[in-house]
Amino acid sequence: MNEQSLSLRLTRVGEQIPDQARLADIGSDHAYLPVALMLQNKIQYAVAGEVVKGPFESASRQVEKNGLSDKITVRLADGLAAIQPEDQIDTVVIAGMGGTLIRTILENGKSQQKITGKERLVLQPNVGERTLREWLQENNYMILHEELIEENHKNYEIIVAEEGSKIYTPQELFFGPCLLKEKNLVFYKKWAHELQQREIVLQELEKAATPPQDKISELNEQIDWIKEVLE
Ligand code: SAM
Repeated sequence: MNEQSLSLRLTRVGEQIPDQARLADIGSDHAYLPVALMLQNKIQYAVAGEVVKGPFESASRQVEKNGLSDKITVRLADGLAAIQPEDQIDTVVIAGMGGTLIRTILENGKSQQKITGKERLVLQPNVGERTLREWLQENNYMILHEELIEENHKNYEIIVAEEGSKIYTPQELFFGPCLLKEKNLVFYKKWAHELQQREIVLQELEKAATPPQDKISELNEQIDWIKEVLE
């Protein structure tokens, strides 16, 4: 394992980890991220948490193979339950899952007092970004940085948040406050495609015997927002 073997997505996630962080990588799978960052001497210590036995064993093998067992602890645990107080974690990564699952992991971790609210969160939802941003807003986090990247014909969003109070507009929660400001090429491509998809769904819903008016209004509102940002 070396730093070149990380995907673009995980490389970009890794760039958001502060130097000499004490990192918890939740849903670590093969532990690629903490191993690569440790080999670069970028982090001080890491916990790689996994809830499924197969990926937990892969993570354990990867850490052992690289001789990092004294610096990376692999734990079989559900979400943030992988974190122990003595780990003194200051940065939490949850990447490669749906936004709703990431939100549930954060919510459970908060009620189990596994996070204090002071940690930097580096989140990479595959879908369901809006619900995650809503959770961050409701739980006293501010979004400091966002990225939208394309790799192997798929889009990935990275959301970096830290303690802070900020109220976002419905459009900022939908598109991402930083992504909306930046509007890079991937952003235009993604939302042009999303617009097309929503127009197709809208046409189908309007043909229904009893058209679902709530859903239709929601789609119309989103279509207006998207058209506005694509102008
Ligand atoms: N984080 C890596 C990445 O971004 O490449 C792996 C992503 S992989 C698609 C998702 C991993 O999260 C799987 O290995 C899965 O077992 C794990 N996972 C799902 N729910 C989890 C939970 N509640 N707690 C810990 N791990 C979880």
